[in-house]
Amino acid sequence: MSDLTGETRLPDPVCYICGRQGTDSRDHVIRECFFSGPRPSNLLTIPAHYTCHNRFDEEYARGILSGLGSEANRVAQRLWNTKTKRSFDRSAPLRKSIASSLVRKIDLISPAGLVIDKAPAIRMDKDRFYPLMRKIVQGMFLHHTGQLLPSNFRSAWSLNALLELSGHRKQMLQASQFGLVYPEIFGCRYLIVTEKGVEASVSWLCFYTNVVFRCYVPPRHLWSPLAP
Ligand SMILES: [Zn+2]
Repeated sequence: MSDLTGETRLPDPVCYICGRQGTDSRDHVIRECFFSGPRPSNLLTIPAHYTCHNRFDEEYARGILSGLGSEANRVAQRLWNTKTKRSFDRSAPLRKSIASSLVRKIDLISPAGLVIDKAPAIRMDKDRFYPLMRKIVQGMFLHHTGQLLPSNFRSAWSLNALLELSGHRKQMLQASQFGLVYPEIFGCRYLIVTEKGVEASVSWLCFYTNVVFRCYVPPRHLWSPLAP
């Protein structure tokens, strides 16, 4: 489904976000605002309605992701000090909201009381953050499998998925395939699990080297017919 330019084409373009026809634009699945400096030439774009892809809160998501990634990743650091800072200068409510989302790192304590790692404690506004992440999962799913993921798909999210790489989940990650990668900015791994004709999938979205979200999409018969 994809050519060398990173574009994914459908025979009769439907919007990859709502699943309906009559698209009037192409959407950058990973928005340009997540990059700093020269952008890769193979930015993935997919047909979509302008009204469908223009309703996400990118500034909020970029603020959260660049804040989480800024300790370990120089691109995230640069974004935090430039684009995110400028957004904050323009909007005090945005600054306040992101500042309250990103609180100090907490110690992860093992059952025996040992500090096993440190993780950012996040209290983010899920309704502002996850719609964009769901859109990225839809874009990656189409790019990797050639199939649409309908807009009512059910998703179960896990933050700090980088810290979960043990036991059963480690096996899942090892079984997964590498998808789209923009070095230092974004990387995706995915796993499609088919059992008795029923399909589920797992995607790992990695931003700025070590900010990893895992999204589990259960089999369709478990989706709600009404809400995502
Ligand atoms: Zn649409």
